Amino acid sequence: MIEIPFLKPNVVKNEAYLPYLDQIDISRVYSNYGPLNDLFEQRVLLEYFNNEGAVSTVNNATTGLILAISACKRKGGKYALMPSFTFSATPLAAIWAGLEPYFIDISEDNWCMNENIVKEVIEKLGDDVAVVVPYATFGTWLDLSYYMSLMNQGIPVVVDAAASFGTCLDKQFGTAFDGAIVFSFHATKAFGIGEGGLVYSSDQNLIKRIREAANFGFNGDRESCLLGLNGKTSEYTAAIALATLPEFPEKKKVRNKIREWYLDTMKSSHLQERGWRIQETKGSIAHQFFPILCPKDQVNSDLVKRLETQGIQVRHYFSPACHEQEMFRSYPRSNLSVTDEIQKRILSLPLWEEMDENHVIRVVRSLVNG
Ligand SMILES: *Cc1c(COP(=O)(O)O)cnc(C)c1O
Repeated sequence: MIEIPFLKPNVVKNEAYLPYLDQIDISRVYSNYGPLNDLFEQRVLLEYFNNEGAVSTVNNATTGLILAISACKRKGGKYALMPSFTFSATPLAAIWAGLEPYFIDISEDNWCMNENIVKEVIEKLGDDVAVVVPYATFGTWLDLSYYMSLMNQGIPVVVDAAASFGTCLDKQFGTAFDGAIVFSFHATKAFGIGEGGLVYSSDQNLIKRIREAANFGFNGDRESCLLGLNGKTSEYTAAIALATLPEFPEKKKVRNKIREWYLDTMKSSHLQERGWRIQETKGSIAHQFFPILCPKDQVNSDLVKRLETQGIQVRHYFSPACHEQEMFRSYPRSNLSVTDEIQKRILSLPLWEEMDENHVIRVVRSLVNG
């Protein structure tokens, strides 16, 4: 029996959004960028992005990635450069946007795409590169200066920042970036609302195009001018999103306290000395779960099975990495030696808001004691 599940999603309770539901009953506007959606977007732009640039909600981050990649990709380009160590939504979005994923290895320290390899591949592929799609792995702050230089050279960049809403160094991650930044509000993310997402850019024009594309590509006269789709958010979802805003800082705090318990327990159990490794992250993060690498002489899938027998549910995101999944096996790639090593060792440990210190101690002891 599972006693410590991997996640226990905790979306705001209905009393928190009942007043907004009453407003929907009165307005009788249910979707199409209605008043609650507008209010949420205004508040996020002000409270998280200092009113620099623009945002548009989307019905989930996968749609957000499809829309953002379609809106920015270079004409005549063929490839979307991205890490293989990401969720399958990233390459799927590129394929739906008419491109081919080109998988790039990650760096050993922060598990994000290796920029030196990106550079080499861009030199090799030239104008065949349509877009570059880095992933801010597991919510880390990612220094975007290299990607800004790509934008300045005319190479579009869409950042998969699915788990980085709330990630802060001095500002919210992504602020002032003129490519697109895509966040997920799926129930399993820290800012979880059920299904939802957000695209941010400092380029207001880009967000305007993405928003049009998310509404069937309609221009002002309801004529489809682009390869649009329906990526809009319902007012019910906007109600939950609005009610989540005031609760999110506390959620982030609680998640960080649990992370601190993990770090303390790992230290006292000498996990580092036993060959366990954690990601080098930057910034304060609203952690989604606790990713860790097991020692080189162990295999993650064995550990998952062993912990399961002890009532502890752990996962191994993102293993198998994308390039090993049937849908993506035929796409081109760089050498992926770091990805291959990490996908054998990666484990995702439980993290949910009602966890206490004893849960954490049990998980860590089970890792080392076998
Ligand atoms: C969660 C996630 C997505 C997809 O988000 P949805 O809102 O569920 O579509 C995309 N990329 C990464 C890296 C994710 O973790």
